[in-house]
Amino acid sequence: MLTRTSPEYDAARHGFQRRDPHRPEVIFPVTNATEVEEAVRYAIDHDKRIAVQASGHGLTRGIDGGVLIATGAFNHVTVDPGKKTAWIEAGATWRDVLAATAPYGLAPLSGSSPGVGAIPYTLGGGLGLMARRFGYAADHVRRIEIVTMDGVRRDAEADLFWATRGGGGNFGVVTGIEVDLFDVPTLYGGSLYFDLAEHPPGAAAAASRVSSRSAKAASSCSRESASRLRLALPAPGVRRRQVAWRGGTREAAPRARASR
Ligand SMILES: Cc1cc2nc3c(=O)[nH]c(=O)nc-3n(C[C@H](O)[C@H](O)[C@H](O)COP(=O)(O)OP(=O)(O)OC[C@H]3O[C@@H](n4cnc5c(N)ncnc54)[C@H](O)[C@@H]3O)c2cc1C
Repeated sequence: MLTRTSPEYDAARHGFQRRDPHRPEVIFPVTNATEVEEAVRYAIDHDKRIAVQASGHGLTRGIDGGVLIATGAFNHVTVDPGKKTAWIEAGATWRDVLAATAPYGLAPLSGSSPGVGAIPYTLGGGLGLMARRFGYAADHVRRIEIVTMDGVRRDAEADLFWATRGGGGNFGVVTGIEVDLFDVPTLYGGSLYFDLAEHPPGAAAAASRVSSRSAKAASSCSRESASRLRLALPAPGVRRRQVAWRGGTREAAPRARASR
């Protein structure tokens, strides 16, 4: 357990986003499910509120006081290639999951950013770059293990299982999930960048043209491809579109050209 005077306190409370970091009274940097139970029981016994942080990529409102359960080091991934499933621990990022599944030619329904926590992403629904073919990540969860707010670790039964997939961390601290894996021997992906200055007369009109072309292209493309416009500007006057194609090299280049 870290307190505000511990030398590791600052590093442990900060995540990827720096806008509103947590300022907890104590931090539990957990490495296994038993430590999560201990942290939750500590919060119950001391009447403290709880926040959970995996990678801190989400723009969560920072807590003042209370208990922060930092799951970053609780990040093991176990693959069952026969069943095509993976057991993912609370703090594993998609980078950790892919490193474990890729040697089998298998992939989870990840997000686009390797540094994002697999469990928070999935609990939020999870609409990734293979969603047109396979759907939401939350619909491919087989089992959820969770420490509920009575400090007990349990397998989420029907109602809790339903609510947690989409309801996120509102029902307890998830210690692990079992997810489906998919055959993805090859995936081509990247970003296309549009210079709005090349689309006169005005940036707003150009952005809207790029956006409607995106929607049109997406609706007529194979479900093995995905494309989405990112509204956050990578640089002034530039728009970005992420593209992905699950298939062979020969088809990849024409697909990328088609989605321009
Ligand atoms: C500005 C911005 C840009 C983004 N860009 C991308 C992108 O490019 N690609 C992409 O794939 N996604 C992106 N996302 C979405 C991101 O995937 C989700 O916000 C994801 O939930 C963040 O995961 P995390 O590991 O950072 O979780 P955290 O920020 O650590 O936590 C997110 C939420 O989940 C809860 N939580 C965490 N762990 C648990 C647990 N074990 N049990 C219960 N609740 C838990 C936390 O309490 C918190 O409310 C972006 C989000 C933002 C805000």
